[in-house]
Amino acid sequence: MKSNGTTPHVPPRAHRALTGWGRTAPSACDVTEVRSGEELDAVVSGALRSKRSVVARGLGRSYGDAAQCAGGVVIDITGLDSVLDADLETGVVRVGAGMSIDALMRAFVPRGWFVPVTPGTRHVTVGGAIAADIHGKNHHRDGSFCSYVTRLSLATPSGRVEVSPEHDPELFWATAGGMGLTGIVVDATVQMLRVETATMRVDTERARNLDDCLTRMIERDGEYRYSVAWIDCLARGPKMGRAVLTRADHARLEDLPPARRADALRFDPVVRAQVPVTPPSGLLNPMTVAAFNELWFRKAPRSRAGQLQTMATYFHPLDGIGSWNRMYGARGFVQYQFVVPFGAEDALRDVLTRLSQGRMASFVTVLKRFGPADPGPLSFPVAGWTLAFDLPVGPLSTGPLLDALDETVAGAGGRVYLAKDSRLRPELLETMYPRLAEWRATRDRVDPTGLFVSDLSRRLGLVSTPRPRRASRPARGRTKPEAQEKATS
Ligand SMILES: Cc1cc2nc3c(=O)[nH]c(=O)nc-3n(C[C@H](O)[C@H](O)[C@H](O)COP(=O)(O)OP(=O)(O)OC[C@H]3O[C@@H](n4cnc5c(N)ncnc54)[C@H](O)[C@@H]3O)c2cc1C
Repeated sequence: MKSNGTTPHVPPRAHRALTGWGRTAPSACDVTEVRSGEELDAVVSGALRSKRSVVARGLGRSYGDAAQCAGGVVIDITGLDSVLDADLETGVVRVGAGMSIDALMRAFVPRGWFVPVTPGTRHVTVGGAIAADIHGKNHHRDGSFCSYVTRLSLATPSGRVEVSPEHDPELFWATAGGMGLTGIVVDATVQMLRVETATMRVDTERARNLDDCLTRMIERDGEYRYSVAWIDCLARGPKMGRAVLTRADHARLEDLPPARRADALRFDPVVRAQVPVTPPSGLLNPMTVAAFNELWFRKAPRSRAGQLQTMATYFHPLDGIGSWNRMYGARGFVQYQFVVPFGAEDALRDVLTRLSQGRMASFVTVLKRFGPADPGPLSFPVAGWTLAFDLPVGPLSTGPLLDALDETVAGAGGRVYLAKDSRLRPELLETMYPRLAEWRATRDRVDPTGLFVSDLSRRLGLVSTPRPRRASRPARGRTKPEAQEKATS
């Protein structure tokens, strides 16, 4: 790394056990919280000199092992959370990579600018959003997050580089969805979306089974910016795949009752409840989930148009319950998300059939339609159907079932989402991500000695030049990870 002549402050390290949001597979890491780009550069230089592996960590919302590195240095970038520049005329903002989508929304929705893409939680950082090239309910229309990133500053082993879709496009797109393995995003410029209100105009309808749901989505998704279907994963027979479809657009000022127009851009979501302790594993079982699903399906209107909902209710319902990931019990849970291309609907049907017949109790099962892929070789979305579901760790049948689903998905030309993965076998990676070699070539150019490594990259053999792994000391104190995710709201 280049030095400016002064000795940069190197922040202290804490030895901690980290997991992802699914709370599985903890590993002991040296965690360093950085407060400035200079501190970040100093930590990267130090790791290079001492031949330690490094990975960045945001708010720890990836489900598996992407933001941890056993025996290595984990750089917590959530301190890089400033707005560096903002043009309120054009909606172009430059922010530190540790800024969360929540903070971005709190800062800019009241000024009439919404994030171009939001995942199902606001508690992800801009750096994490770029590293996973996240998608939202508008992918069928707007694509994924990195399509709205016009420039980013990347800390690499040879120093800081500025990249954009025009300047070093290979590195830009290798970083989009590159899971932090091409360098650490220090700050990014994002084009926001103009909105008139902080309210959504939502249409809801029920679909009686999977085919009915797919037909409705094919026929009318194009009329909406946002679309998502909640699926009853336990319904069987003619009801298999029954769904509640919610599609929405940003409400215009004239959609609001006159009394609400003066305050149309108010955005102040709150956490309504907290899961205070980890309940025993097994709370979410086929019986409780089937009862919940029945209730949820029946509670939904058969068809309702134009309901006004807050952004938080429509986009981030789970953020209203603090630490909801504890609900799955001490063993944690796996989220499985895959996409199969249009034309491979039989694979989707096959997966849902196996879930319902195997009584696999997923609390939240969600189906979306993706539009065309962006140029990122490791970016997850490709045009097709994406299904995500959660399964508690524990039942012996879960592992073999998911292994079988991997084969079905790969055989159909699909892939699983690395930001959610914690258990894929490496053999299938190249089938699922056929442009892996192209991505590796770019990564090797920017990181020839293999500085950036994560548990995910080691498990899947993602990088071709991994550093030797240091024997990891056990984390001091509690053996169970205590602070997997940053506190939010
Ligand atoms: C409830 C919930 C709903 C979700 N819904 C969606 C969804 O709808 N769509 C979707 O796409 N995803 C979704 N996700 C996944 C989430 O958006 C991604 O995993 C995202 O990457 C998490 O961001 P983070 O800041 O928590 O990053 P972390 O989980 O801390 O890290 C994720 C990856 O990003 C890398 N990284 C983090 N910061 C940087 C940086 N500054 N520079 C380089 N690399 C970095 C890490 O090394 C790691 O590989 C959801 C997750 C949860 C918990």
